[in-house]
Amino acid sequence: AKDDGGNEHRSYEPLLHANAEERRQLEFALRQALERRELVLNYQPVVDATSESVVSFEALVRWNSTDHGPISPGKFVPIAEDTRLIVPIGTWVLEQACREATRWPEHVRIAVNVSPEQLFEPDFATTVVRALTASGLEARRLELEVTESIFLRDASVARSSLEQVMALGCTVALDDFGTGYSSLGYLRKIKFSTIKVDRSFVTGAAQDSKESLAIIRAVVAMAESLEMSTTAEGVESAEEADMIRRLGCTKIQGYYFGRPMPAEDALRLFRRRPAV
Ligand code: C2E
Ligand code: CA
Ligand code: CA
Ligand code: CA
Repeated sequence: AKDDGGNEHRSYEPLLHANAEERRQLEFALRQALERRELVLNYQPVVDATSESVVSFEALVRWNSTDHGPISPGKFVPIAEDTRLIVPIGTWVLEQACREATRWPEHVRIAVNVSPEQLFEPDFATTVVRALTASGLEARRLELEVTESIFLRDASVARSSLEQVMALGCTVALDDFGTGYSSLGYLRKIKFSTIKVDRSFVTGAAQDSKESLAIIRAVVAMAESLEMSTTAEGVESAEEADMIRRLGCTKIQGYYFGRPMPAEDALRLFRRRPAV
């Protein structure tokens, strides 16, 4: 019950306690999620900004907990990262996504999110090799998405892991660009294939924020000179898509072109219209 009467302690502490308790329960359930087969992957299309044809899908994990119902990745991925459960979960995601991608046309690629905890495992590249070998997917069809936060730790370890997977033929995208660590120095050292412009800038630019527009322009110009492509995230309308195209982003991802969908629906996009 909410206590608005004077004593802040009495209303605040039970709330904190509830959150800690909920977290403990989710952690407990998450430990069993893999073996109970409660995790599934959804796939969100990424389209070429000019032709609007599907160039790749991003794999996005979903958890339907038997005990707690559907839990969003925004809620459970941070718990999985804190507890390092993201390492086995991430391996499963990688294997499952590669397997699914072998059913798509050869020019369609798969993008998989990789947490810092996974990248800092000494055998990360081996995990990638195993996923490729087990599925038979060509390395060039796999893109790994990392965020700037990997550079907050030992940047040389992160760099060496990424160089190993790039040597295999995979590409690496820089996710949520502009929202994390602000140094640009690492762009000189790591050959990202794609910079993903965070949704906050896209939304801002669509709402006539001069700052957001200026930032997207600058990121696109920088990416072009570094020979990297750009993906605008979170494009929700035709107006936003037009604006993004005018700004020169290479690729677009967002609800306007497709929501994250089950594997069968992603596959059906090609069965119905083989030309995409
Ligand atoms: P992210 O990697 O930035 O993924 C994009 C998120 O934006 C997804 O949320 C997607 O559903 C959402 N999104 C896409 N288009 C739109 C749009 O037009 N409008 C809006 N409002 N949202 C859009 P989701 O699936 O809830 O995932 C949230 C985050 O959880 C991801 O952000 C990523 O950081 C993490 N995540 C998801 N799956 C995995 C995974 O397999 N491994 C790891 N390590 N992290 C994952
Ligand atoms: Ca991502
Ligand atoms: Ca993102
Ligand atoms: Ca994000």
